[in-house]
Amino acid sequence: MISQKSMAAAAMIPFSLLRNYTTTGRIAAGVRTSLGLCAHPSSINFLTPNRSPRYLCRASATHDEEAAAKAAAINADNGAPTIFDKIISKEIPSTIVYEDDKVLAFKDINPEAPVHVLVIPKFRDGLTQLGKAEQRHGEILGQLLYASRIVAEKEGILEGFRVVINNGPSACQSVYHLHLHVLGGRQMHWPPG
Ligand code: 5GP
Repeated sequence: MISQKSMAAAAMIPFSLLRNYTTTGRIAAGVRTSLGLCAHPSSINFLTPNRSPRYLCRASATHDEEAAAKAAAINADNGAPTIFDKIISKEIPSTIVYEDDKVLAFKDINPEAPVHVLVIPKFRDGLTQLGKAEQRHGEILGQLLYASRIVAEKEGILEGFRVVINNGPSACQSVYHLHLHVLGGRQMHWPPG
């Protein structure tokens, strides 16, 4: 159950801060979760058992966002390229922060913080989402995390930053090519906002 205290805390967090990063089904650095407003069986979380299965993507998510996330999930594993493939191929321009032969990091087009960088594997290799990870992905997953640290240093936020992975429709994942959000440049709150 979500405690009244948690609900009250959620209600006090400004809309803009809640928009993307408030909920479970999201894996933040330190593998912590938030208020427990959103449960997803494939996410890493520490939700209390027997809690209400209210699959709210985020406390303030719009129905459009939820609907779009559900729609995106339907085609998640059909092998079709995503917008990130076009960014990797430079068909679509992006502001690249870091790049090596395995990893690309570029600024999010819709930043939720002064620093908001997406870190992605150049070769998706089945990693449409973290929930699809297999043991063989261990190396690239480590490289993505390490690249996140490089990004944080490059962006001058090494002293405080957050890494988030949205996994699946109940976390409002919208692009099915694994990506880590590196966020910082402002005070981050916990429960996340
Ligand atoms: P998700 O919601 O799947 O966790 O995150 C997808 C992210 O990709 C969103 O934060 C969104 O703003 C970002 N995004 C979507 N399309 C583009 C694009 O064309 N360029 C860039 N730079 N970011 C994008």
